[in-house]
Amino acid sequence: MTTTPVTYPTGALIDGQWITSATSFPVINPATGKEIARVPNLGAKETQDAVDAASRALGAWSAKPAKDRSIVLRRWFDLITANTEPLAQLMTAEQGKPLSEARGEVAYGASFVEWFAEEGKRAYGRTIPTTVASRRYITIKQPIGVVAAITPWNFPIAMITRKVASALAAGCTIIVKPAEDTPLCALAVAKLALDAGVPPGVFNVVTTMDAPAVGKVLTDDARVRKLTFTGSTAVGKALYRQCADTVKKLTLELGGNAPLLIFDDANLDQAVAGAMASKYRNAGQTCVCANRILVQSGIYDRFAAALVAAVEKLHVAPGTDARCTIGPLINADAIAKVEALSADAIAKGAKVMTGGTVNAAGPLFYQPTVISGVTRDMDIVREEIFGPVAALMRFETEADAIALANDTPFGLAAYLFSQNLSRAWRVAEKLEAGMVGVNDGIFSNEVVPFGGVKQSGLGREGAAEGLDEYLETKFICLGAIDA
Ligand code: ADP
Repeated sequence: MTTTPVTYPTGALIDGQWITSATSFPVINPATGKEIARVPNLGAKETQDAVDAASRALGAWSAKPAKDRSIVLRRWFDLITANTEPLAQLMTAEQGKPLSEARGEVAYGASFVEWFAEEGKRAYGRTIPTTVASRRYITIKQPIGVVAAITPWNFPIAMITRKVASALAAGCTIIVKPAEDTPLCALAVAKLALDAGVPPGVFNVVTTMDAPAVGKVLTDDARVRKLTFTGSTAVGKALYRQCADTVKKLTLELGGNAPLLIFDDANLDQAVAGAMASKYRNAGQTCVCANRILVQSGIYDRFAAALVAAVEKLHVAPGTDARCTIGPLINADAIAKVEALSADAIAKGAKVMTGGTVNAAGPLFYQPTVISGVTRDMDIVREEIFGPVAALMRFETEADAIALANDTPFGLAAYLFSQNLSRAWRVAEKLEAGMVGVNDGIFSNEVVPFGGVKQSGLGREGAAEGLDEYLETKFICLGAIDA
């Protein structure tokens, strides 16, 4: 197949047209502080245009046989995959993650397109045994309609494809508002979607600096039947409220406060490898990053020493440096947050075992850090760190560990390390989380359901569950069949 190089569109995408606007905003490379490009700063009017376009496109797209939509999605997957290198370079430029991780995210992002290209063909209804001789009961699945997606900057491709591929496979049309820090990856994958044959209006991208104004149009418009949001809990709650008047279906992937439990009977090497993968990937900027590392007394000192040794091998550098394992944080606010949480912990008695400062590579680079002796009165155990700082807490018994782990309003990911199968199963069942990794620090992929409980959100993405989020069940009663 022919592949088109990704040429980084810098217009927004509405109804198949790349549009500009009178005002624009810069996209900054966090490693250098330099401007990469400018994109349109759109407002309520253009958002309305995008909803109009998505509404017009809905009829034809939803009427296509699932197999035809699947062919288009499969072409989109092939194009993303063929353009892995330019997409990864673009992602590292605007988001900062190491190139190796950016390549991994392109594959991860593409995997959702491949999965939903297939899964869309399996939107099965049911026949239900009747209660009345003259009737038959059937359910069919139908696309929910126009969808709005609001996405974060930490996975600038995967958070788009995970939503868009499932919506499109189901027969929905979509308007995406990407994070203001990382609009270029969204526009690049949207261009590839057009190249793959996604019709005008089916996939729209509205870039803006004024997220509340765009969000208001998307939530107020009754034609938008679903909002899918990944981001902070505070914004997610506000959007949840805004969707009440039009009773939209919602998927919310909100903040986490993931506990990572290490029991005395853990395999130390596995525990260190799992903690490293979970904590330091994307410089700690994921909602499933271990936020609290709870370590049983008998293994605490050995684990802490081994973790520090592994952390000191990390290489802080711009993501384009082949040795880089920790890139910059996304912006100055992220650095300020990490510094404030660390300072609070230290003021209350925690100790820095390694790191604890900004790195010489630049103002947004933070030295990978391990803080020991963290206790439940510290802010760092309540708030998402979203940076390369590991907070170690000590516990004595399994019951204490479970109580500590669940002592949070959040419930996205949790991890546990133990070689005792009975304990692993028992604890996994008791952890209040949507996803539990047992002896594993990274588990997200396209075939398993991603999502949280409690204030971490609603709904699931990926897997069969991810398709269902974009479908309505219609019950059809066929009466008088004996007439
Ligand atoms: P983060 O702290 O990770 O940046 P946010 O929740 O602020 O998380 O951002 C996630 C997404 O939500 C981004 O696309 C952002 O522009 C958007 N956003 C932020 N505030 C609002 C709002 N009031 N209405 C709609 N979208 C918003």
